Amino acid sequence: MYRPPPGVRTSPDMPIPERMRAWILGDPDQLTLGAKPVPMPGRAEVLVRIDAVAICATDLEVIHYGSPAKVQGGLPFNKGWTPGHEYMGTVAALGPGVDELRIGQRVTVEIHAGCGQCKRCRQGMYTACLNYGLNYGEVDKGHRANGFTSDGGFAEYAINNINTLIRVPDSMSDEEATLVVTAGTSMYGLTELGGLVAGESVVVIGPGPIGLLAAGVAKALGASPVVLVGTRDARLDIGRRLGADRVVNVRNEDPVAVVKELTGGIGADYVIECAGTQDALNMATAMVNRGAKICLAAFPHDPVTVDIPQIVRNNVYLYGIRGEGRSATHRAMAFMAEKRFDARLVHTHTFALDDLPEALRHARERIGDAIKVVVKVNHGAALAAAAE
Ligand SMILES: [Zn+2]
Ligand SMILES: [Zn+2]
Repeated sequence: MYRPPPGVRTSPDMPIPERMRAWILGDPDQLTLGAKPVPMPGRAEVLVRIDAVAICATDLEVIHYGSPAKVQGGLPFNKGWTPGHEYMGTVAALGPGVDELRIGQRVTVEIHAGCGQCKRCRQGMYTACLNYGLNYGEVDKGHRANGFTSDGGFAEYAINNINTLIRVPDSMSDEEATLVVTAGTSMYGLTELGGLVAGESVVVIGPGPIGLLAAGVAKALGASPVVLVGTRDARLDIGRRLGADRVVNVRNEDPVAVVKELTGGIGADYVIECAGTQDALNMATAMVNRGAKICLAAFPHDPVTVDIPQIVRNNVYLYGIRGEGRSATHRAMAFMAEKRFDARLVHTHTFALDDLPEALRHARERIGDAIKVVVKVNHGAALAAAAE
């Protein structure tokens, strides 16, 4: 059994095993299902029993390239590290002094706790913590980003700072709750643009999970019109059901012309760029009006050529965002709990934790037009087999 140190509280209603199943990253793209001790929560932390975890494109990045994960000061390979960051579950143990949550409560998590002591963390920009990855040895600043700089959610249990937890209403399924952090990223983008988008025109380029949910969040915030630009009709249809007023398939129509026409010839007030390609970036700069704001929510793999003179001449503002800062996840949950948009539309596939490699393959190769693939954790499954 789990033997926590003094001050950590558990409940007989939620027995915790001593060891848990966890996927462990070896060399690039090599994940092995193994066994680890169930971790102990410290001050301001709780132990979360993971019930479901969604796969993100960034998981595929870190499993293959390592970056942007940073474990013990370097790439995450062969360090006994567990990836996965979009999870939800049930509070299983409380660290010393924690009275903000109860054992048995359902919670979903945001990724970044930050260090809590640097300038950016103090500003609420904990996803841009100046002590990113410094949580080991003599440089330990306590930074935590689940599945990036600390152990993540492709396991049965994980430690979370209380500030990264959001209560899940009973009416919301485990699968839907894993999508809150993605909607929170979309919300953070709109927050950084100023947040007051009611009646303003918003264009979203790239109908991946963040882009699709950005259409839903922008609509819920009152933006009008909300335009979604992409290349695949099936995804654009989902965007329409999430709240886009107009969808544009770039294979059939010129999105810049459509946006100009919809905005009386002047262009859009806001663009959220979620495609990360050179074409999409230049499309964004060509379709905004003077003084407009562009949020860069996707990262291109290589440097790109962008029409900077166009940006300067037109007094256009660029905002790079990382993750889900400024408690945006709580605002996303508020909309989702009230069913202001139906995030479930982006959840396409479900697998068991033991089938993670197959789940990752579906996400990577977009098998069956996969958008969000969710992994469900069956507690009490064969740990013994995994441990041998
Ligand atoms: Zn993610
Ligand atoms: Zn910090």
